[in-house]
Amino acid sequence: MENQNKNVSAVQPTQATQTRRDAMKSLTSALSGATLLRASGATLLGASGAALLGINSSAEANNAEPIVKTREFNATGAKLTGRLVTPTSATYENDRLGWDKYFSTYPSVICYVQNTDDVANALAWSRETGTAMRVRAGGHCLEGWNSVTGGITIDVSSLKSIKLDKENMTATVGTGVNQGELWAALAGTGLGFPTGEADTVGLGGVLLGGGIGVLAASYGVACDNLLAVEMVIASGKTGASVIHADLNQNSDLLWACRGGGGGNFGITTSYTVQLHPITPKVVVWGITWPFAAFQDAFEAWQSWAPTADTRLGSTFNVIPPQTASQEVQVDGIFVGTEAELGDLLSPLTKIPGAQVKKAFRTFAENFVITNADPDPATNWLFRSSWTYKKLPKEALDIVVDFMKRTPNKDCAWWSLSWGGKVRTPPKGGSAFFHRDPLFYSEPGVGWTDPSQTSACIAWSRAFGTAMRAYTQGSYVNVPDRAITDWGNSYYGTNFDRLKTIKSKYDPNEVFKFEQSIPLA
Ligand SMILES: Cc1cc2nc3c(=O)[nH]c(=O)nc-3n(C[C@H](O)[C@H](O)[C@H](O)COP(=O)(O)OP(=O)(O)OC[C@H]3O[C@@H](n4cnc5c(N)ncnc54)[C@H](O)[C@@H]3O)c2cc1C
Repeated sequence: MENQNKNVSAVQPTQATQTRRDAMKSLTSALSGATLLRASGATLLGASGAALLGINSSAEANNAEPIVKTREFNATGAKLTGRLVTPTSATYENDRLGWDKYFSTYPSVICYVQNTDDVANALAWSRETGTAMRVRAGGHCLEGWNSVTGGITIDVSSLKSIKLDKENMTATVGTGVNQGELWAALAGTGLGFPTGEADTVGLGGVLLGGGIGVLAASYGVACDNLLAVEMVIASGKTGASVIHADLNQNSDLLWACRGGGGGNFGITTSYTVQLHPITPKVVVWGITWPFAAFQDAFEAWQSWAPTADTRLGSTFNVIPPQTASQEVQVDGIFVGTEAELGDLLSPLTKIPGAQVKKAFRTFAENFVITNADPDPATNWLFRSSWTYKKLPKEALDIVVDFMKRTPNKDCAWWSLSWGGKVRTPPKGGSAFFHRDPLFYSEPGVGWTDPSQTSACIAWSRAFGTAMRAYTQGSYVNVPDRAITDWGNSYYGTNFDRLKTIKSKYDPNEVFKFEQSIPLA
């Protein structure tokens, strides 16, 4: 049974004991209905390597500006407010788990905050009682860092407000809003936003780490469109403060929130984002081939996609041979009319065996269709990586080899096109680092039967490791706790500045987890 608005006694913190795991997501092809899987690869990109690649950290904000606070909360006698779920609640089993059931923690209390005050109370309570604390929004963290055994999960998923300012083309959303809810709110407005494609993924986590998808070439990384945040930070010995960050106030924090990763500086309660005019319908297109055409199709895609018309975004997906009649799939969006699309797809459609389909939908409609997976696995593992130089034949041979010996059918190697608007940082800069890759990729595996666990993990790890020689860096929103040099891998030359901002806004490291940004 849920405990409403009641105080919960302090529980001594314990660290999560879960072993290293990853996660994965599945999408269903808009056009073929086949299950698509995504995964991650982990390689390291040192600062010197980043410099060689000419990556621009564009950090305009000023670390020396004082923290401007909106409100202060005293910690003495802090009480938990909001909707509380504890281990004795009937719904606890469901409430304690996130999207990826592979990560199984047992928090002592889950606090579903209803407003900013509840967040501040929960943060102050956790500090005063010495209870370990984690933050959760959409619950899709791919390393389980949104919850800790014995601690408090501060869950912002009830913060569902959405305010549209059509004149200025902005939206101010509570951090409990998920991607699908934002798209539903934008339906019919003529405005769009470049999120990823899975509807239940929370903006709470997505925006802080990046937000990559097929609209990125048109409108940039989602986090580049972040104009302002409200955040509750730890302050004083055990207190909390509410602060606002935009280009004029706490601007260094805004920079850090644009790609610095979730759970690092404080708890965001609202985001204001820039929207963009979008055509009422986009062209949703898909091309499939049999597995045997993989090398030719991929070579064509990796030569074409990085410099294609910026209104074109696409994904390249390979599923195990014999899973479907057409195991190689490129799905994309064109933000324009069919007439404007013309023969822009011809570098792909001319590859022998291509079957082409097109449809005309709003992006919101496409969201619903692409997420209709009827039987998703419960456990997932991904390895994210960025490709800066075209994959040679040897690398494609590795993909063929691993896809021919998958541990089950819920395996895939998935790539996302990159280019266009993502190459340029927004005004004020952004902690998002990987602007110059040709594309993003991830091998992924999902499973439900526990007897498959070790085989699935082994396949994913070996696949990611084999591709490491051809890729650089990793994506913080698809993290991997096995990466030792994760700071450089996720953040490259931005890592040092993120550490400085961490020291300023969270000098006591109240926000701490396995790969949280350390103090400078
Ligand atoms: C099925 C699936 C599909 C995906 N598709 C895409 C995609 O297309 N594009 C893409 O870019 N990524 C994608 N991802 C990755 C996704 O961006 C991350 O998993 C993201 O962190 C999820 O955010 P969340 O709020 O749902 O998760 P949560 O687990 O709630 O949060 C993720 C992290 O952010 C922190 N956090 C959450 N809310 C707050 C807050 N209010 N304040 C401070 N910290 C907070 C958490 O502590 C945690 O560390 C996908 C993931 C899955 C599982």
